[in-house]
Amino acid sequence: VLAQHRGDADGALADYIPELASVDPDRFGAALVSVHGRLYTAGDASTPFTIQSISKPFVYALALAEHGLEGVARHVGFEPSGEPFNAISLDPESGRPENPMINAGAIVTSALVSGSGPDERFERIRAFLSVCAGRELDVDEDVWHSESVTGHRNRALANLALAAGVMTRSVDDACEVYFRQCAIRVTATDLAIMAGTLADGGVNPCTGVAVLDEEITRHVLSIMLSCGMYDESGEWAVRVGLPAKSGVGGGIAAVRPGQFGIGIYSPRLDEKGNSVRGVAALRSLAADYDIHLLSQPRVPRSPIVHSSVEGDRWTVVLRGEIDFISAEEIIAHIVGHHDDPDRRDAELWLDTAGVTRVWPEALRALTAVVARLRESGRTVAITDPSGTFGRDR
Ligand code: GLN
Repeated sequence: VLAQHRGDADGALADYIPELASVDPDRFGAALVSVHGRLYTAGDASTPFTIQSISKPFVYALALAEHGLEGVARHVGFEPSGEPFNAISLDPESGRPENPMINAGAIVTSALVSGSGPDERFERIRAFLSVCAGRELDVDEDVWHSESVTGHRNRALANLALAAGVMTRSVDDACEVYFRQCAIRVTATDLAIMAGTLADGGVNPCTGVAVLDEEITRHVLSIMLSCGMYDESGEWAVRVGLPAKSGVGGGIAAVRPGQFGIGIYSPRLDEKGNSVRGVAALRSLAADYDIHLLSQPRVPRSPIVHSSVEGDRWTVVLRGEIDFISAEEIIAHIVGHHDDPDRRDAELWLDTAGVTRVWPEALRALTAVVARLRESGRTVAITDPSGTFGRDR
């Protein structure tokens, strides 16, 4: 994929933060981490660059962990703004920035992170991003100071949020931490591991450290899908279909929940502030490999490996992950054959040794059906050596 797009020199380096214009524009690297923790890299996957806006979903996660969804929602909304990342975009009624991926929302979100002063708050953010990346990340001091002396528009956004009553710190305090968080240095490999942490339900797939709970991870991915690519988010959802976040440093992180995280670096940007070759590479990947989140699963695998009657025992052997549609199939099978002449008087043995996980809604439905069968007089035995079926997941 990199070879396919390497020759594309379209776009330009971000220069509104002067220091960002000093990077090598030709660098191009990509990395993918599977949820099993295996890393694949290509090109300049270990070239450092500043994370910029890709810090936003992670800092949002940190704020959610500290304040809960409702606590954060009082300060920043959930709606795609359909506007550029630096838009002056506050909801006219609530005064909240539309979402945490645009700058206004990200500055407010960053200010929600607890700590007694800017240094302590920044350190919490840096430490958190480091655990997501699986190594200690540092800051590009030049980029930080470069944005700090030129970030008047972001200060204006912070002032508006303050005036609207949704900002919890002083403008200078909030912006310093935000600029510094944007100047954290990462590589495409780091981004892949950070995205992999979101892909694996909040567990860093390389270190095994549980960083976030699953529910927060899901909130963050939802916002990344609807707002992560700013005013390109809609087209992105159609063409790529993965929750993703771009930064004006040239990085993109993309997440295939349950499967892998991708990090890409190429610093020339389109007019929306997204990496030109990064977007192109992910579009190619999506076109060639059908990684879209909403792709139709091609081969629905039956959860029923085997179903037979021997003597007075009817054995149904189950396997794999039992989600809603698998539970529906199991229930239809059992209930559908409940009155077969050869099964009517048989004991039903559900063998769940091969089941890896049962989703809560599936467990509830199956438990209710088993209870009803028992009430109707049938003996139902569940062999559950690993206890998978006994737990609610
Ligand atoms: N630090 C940058 C800014 O606030 C981040 C923007 C981005 O990466 N889209 O302008």
